[in-house]
Amino acid sequence: MRIDIITLFPEMCDTVLNESVIGRARKKGIMELVCHQLRDYAFDKHRRVDDSTYGGGMGMLMKAEPIALCFEDICRQIGKKPHFIYLSPKGRVVTQEKVRKLAEYENLCLLCGHYEGVDQRVLDTFVDEEISIGDYVLTGGELPALVLTDSICRMIPGVLSDDLCFEEESHYNGLLEYPQYTKPAEWRGMSVPEVLLSGHHANIEKWRRETSLEETARLRPDMLRNAQLDDKDIRFLREKGIIKQ
Ligand code: SAM
Repeated sequence: MRIDIITLFPEMCDTVLNESVIGRARKKGIMELVCHQLRDYAFDKHRRVDDSTYGGGMGMLMKAEPIALCFEDICRQIGKKPHFIYLSPKGRVVTQEKVRKLAEYENLCLLCGHYEGVDQRVLDTFVDEEISIGDYVLTGGELPALVLTDSICRMIPGVLSDDLCFEEESHYNGLLEYPQYTKPAEWRGMSVPEVLLSGHHANIEKWRRETSLEETARLRPDMLRNAQLDDKDIRFLREKGIIKQ
């Protein structure tokens, strides 16, 4: 999979994307992540990428032409039009389900806005969708693009050491993950739950499912309403008084 990122701060993005799990996937060639300096596509006399907004108001807006030229160059490089996403606080807030769908694309292109945002005409012409990472406003689209890239990369086979480990994690199956523990078994007077030391796989699985249900009911009851629950789950939640008859 290849993700192209259009940004005024490619070094900022590369610094993050060269570290840890994503950095290793990049080195191994599992993920192709290419950060483009938008300024390289500004060909007017002053190489400007931003200008004042029509109608007045404070702040600068990113100009349409450099973005169009950069995107068209990316299309030429990869020989097709990638699915083009503008990171924006106006976009739909991303979920794990959305990440899973985005990970199915062979090519994605992410546009990071800055200042007051981007000239609407370039968005209307090229962008397929706008995605937000939450209902708050950041100074630029780089952090949202990195959040999205990280979450997508870890769904790609070979990126995580064990491809199945994300299936156990919070949000993947509509529930939050169960609590986890590592050595030592006794720490500051607190023990690891007995069942996890028992080696009894069926009981461990049962405990994990039940604590996952309890964690979700406690921390995110809204998620529990939409989760896929089987008869055993419903029985357990009734016994605990979490759901009524
Ligand atoms: N004037 C814009 C508005 O009110 O919608 C906000 C612009 S913001 C200061 C600058 C850039 O940061 C945006 O163009 C976008 O790329 C990015 N950004 C800020 N908050 C974001 C969020 N929650 N999710 C995704 N991108 C965000």
